[in-house]
Amino acid sequence: MKPLPVPERLTKNRFLLDEEQCNIEVNQEIARASGTGKLLVACCPAHVYTEEPDGTISVEYAACLECGTCLAIAAPGALKWHYPRGGFGVQFREG
Ligand code: SF4
Repeated sequence: MKPLPVPERLTKNRFLLDEEQCNIEVNQEIARASGTGKLLVACCPAHVYTEEPDGTISVEYAACLECGTCLAIAAPGALKWHYPRGGFGVQFREG
């Protein structure tokens, strides 16, 4: 069986959104001052982060792949991130 290319694999994912609890919170002040906001926008593979015209970073956490990249690149205090509660979040169906 031939493995699927990554973009096709990602389309197989399913997400169960926890509407009561967002697992990502950006400290706008620290993100702006440290340049973390622009890094988040550039590095998140799921395009969870967008920068608004006023510089605010918006979060669309429903698409989070739980890869941890944002945690690795964020300046201290700029980001609060935790895994979704049990049963919620991404389900990988193709590895
Ligand atoms: S964990 Fe990965 S997919 Fe989720 S917001 Fe961070 S960088 Fe994006």
